[in-house]
Amino acid sequence: ILSDLPELPLAESFALTEAYNLDTFPEKVNLGQGVYRDEECQSWVLPSVRSAEEFLHQQHLNHEYLPIPGAAPFIKEAQNLVFGPQLAQKENIRSVQTVAGTGANHLAALFCARYLRPKNVFISDPTWDNHQLIWETAGPGIERKLYPYYDPSTRSLHFDGMTAELENSAEENDVVILHACAHNPTGIDPTQTQWKKIAEIVAKKRLFVVFDSAYQGFASGDPDADAWAIRYFYSTFFGDASLSTSAIPAGMIVCQSFSKNFGLYGERIGALHLITPPSVSPWGAYTHLVRLIRSEISCPSLFGARCVHTILTDLDLRSKWIEDVKTMASRIQSVRTSLKSELENIGAQGDWDYIERQIGMFSYTGLSKIQVHRLKQVHHIYMLENGRMSLSGLNGNNVAYVARAIKDVVDR
Ligand code: PMP
Repeated sequence: ILSDLPELPLAESFALTEAYNLDTFPEKVNLGQGVYRDEECQSWVLPSVRSAEEFLHQQHLNHEYLPIPGAAPFIKEAQNLVFGPQLAQKENIRSVQTVAGTGANHLAALFCARYLRPKNVFISDPTWDNHQLIWETAGPGIERKLYPYYDPSTRSLHFDGMTAELENSAEENDVVILHACAHNPTGIDPTQTQWKKIAEIVAKKRLFVVFDSAYQGFASGDPDADAWAIRYFYSTFFGDASLSTSAIPAGMIVCQSFSKNFGLYGERIGALHLITPPSVSPWGAYTHLVRLIRSEISCPSLFGARCVHTILTDLDLRSKWIEDVKTMASRIQSVRTSLKSELENIGAQGDWDYIERQIGMFSYTGLSKIQVHRLKQVHHIYMLENGRMSLSGLNGNNVAYVARAIKDVVDR
């Protein structure tokens, strides 16, 4: 059987980076991979992270194993960041350290596949491409269903399609994956009123919610605002133990990544928070998570946990970090404004307002595969085939070039 294995393509965003690196054209632009770049389009170590690194270096720390669920002081701070100090540290929230957001999503899928055993997992259409692969790998018996998310005619959330699909097709115990903020790739989030309606459906149908939180703080510059939906779901359904099990979701997991909001991409630091309904023993469920971790990675890695913990527990570093996320969020916002005005100024066909309405790392441009291909072949501009553009690759020097190239591909 091994001899029949076909060669598979590399994941698209990684393949784009490789192709971009090989391209010798001087004006090339990388709008592929979702990584923050500064105004010079260079990798940016957050000043708060740099200070934490220096502090940690001076401590002459050892390199012993962490416990299987991870570093307890880090996990406590990770909980505080997601849930806020009022809701965190509750009996029904059990948390573990993970190998970044991907590891959290993978562990969530593994845990659900083994112990929840849903018939279906509902994934937004479109979504971060790894959701499909993760659930295919970790939950092979679970059917992956797409719920409508994006309406190309209005370039906004396909709210009616999303809610109708969950209302009509989801069954009790099914999993629904929701992006906590800065939806990847569309950059479109539900409003608070829409989140409340989604919460109602999820509770009524007794679904299991997996919140994927990869951009807390990065999206708006305010980590509390970006955690609103998660905190709303938690306090509405799980904050009050007297609520009847029939009125709440089957459970909830939050997959938390520190890759973008701390710029710790390669350190692979994240957390998984499991919220159990009153009918389930939080401690029992937690021990099963721990067992899965033992079989997968034995125990997680040290550096990212130390770094995040140092920043979140030191008042000065924490406020420095808040400045850092604001710097990233506001640079992306200003890039949105300049791209939109460049396109308008040169008279590129179309309504470009949506670029400013979307939030987070990406703009979902609606460009076709053919147009994306031409951007790459003719203009050396690299972005995903589905039209997703990572805005951090733009700056004052290249935005006019990119706008002219977009005009070329949309006007023909
Ligand atoms: N979920 C979403 C929606 C993402 O966009 C990403 C990063 N692209 C992740 C999870 C995982 O990121 P990481 O594993 O690098 O923390």
